[in-house]
Amino acid sequence: MDALFEAQFSPLADSGRALSKCGKCLRYMKYISTQPSRMYCGTCEEVYYLPQKGTIKLYKELTCPLDNFELLIFSLAGPEGKSFPLCPYCYNSPPFEGIDTLFGATKTSSTGKLGKGAGMPCFLCPHPTCPHSLIAQGVCACPECSGTLVLDPVSAPKWRLYCNMCNCLVYLPQGAHKISTTRDRCPECESTILEVDFNKKTTPLLDGSTLYTGCILCDELLHSLVEMKHGKSFFKRMGSRGRGRGSGRGGFRGRGRGGKWDDPKMSFRDF
Ligand SMILES: [Zn+2]
Ligand SMILES: [Zn+2]
Ligand SMILES: [Zn+2]
Ligand SMILES: [Zn+2]
Ligand SMILES: [Zn+2]
Repeated sequence: MDALFEAQFSPLADSGRALSKCGKCLRYMKYISTQPSRMYCGTCEEVYYLPQKGTIKLYKELTCPLDNFELLIFSLAGPEGKSFPLCPYCYNSPPFEGIDTLFGATKTSSTGKLGKGAGMPCFLCPHPTCPHSLIAQGVCACPECSGTLVLDPVSAPKWRLYCNMCNCLVYLPQGAHKISTTRDRCPECESTILEVDFNKKTTPLLDGSTLYTGCILCDELLHSLVEMKHGKSFFKRMGSRGRGRGSGRGGFRGRGRGGKWDDPKMSFRDF
């Protein structure tokens, strides 16, 4: 049965619950949880497929800057399950030319509609200024594949990065109040500089301050606090973020502001 037809006329539409606002009509769309799970806007008579086999929640009533649709958070089950934001509209109609090459085998059909469970979550979105995009949330190249490690925005207090292509997980300093990406890049390795707001009681900063910024690969303090899930070593690779830009050689070390870690002899460079 056609997905739109089914959503309109099956009793499932009645059982679907209002979840997030449509960017076109600004009314609530219904979440239909039966496979294939999808959002349905009864006003626009549109169906938007979702990633399958996980839970879907509203993401802090944040909206996509491209189309005004409210963002959703998708989570896979289990402690190692990824969670990631997505825009129902962009997920189904990736807004950027050539984005389908990022999906590997998955291609849009001739009608431009994506099939079940295939789409562009925010962690694949190349939007330069959207705060949820790969550009904003991507931190560094995955040590295990050609993907990018992105900050899991709802992983507090067990902050972590996950790869947008493989299952690689990197644990960040645990128990931090807040960890966020900044707009700055490490001059040495081009990783995104992270801002960490440590817990007052467990801050590793000598003067008891909590705010710290640095590169998780080049900054000794941050590097000593991150951990790869499978115990493999995690160190920088040139051409981080997989873009093949300059190697950054001869730049300044990406230093945090904590005084304790200023000893220039301390280097994890040759790890
Ligand atoms: Zn609508
Ligand atoms: Zn969107
Ligand atoms: Zn976006
Ligand atoms: Zn990877
Ligand atoms: Zn760096």
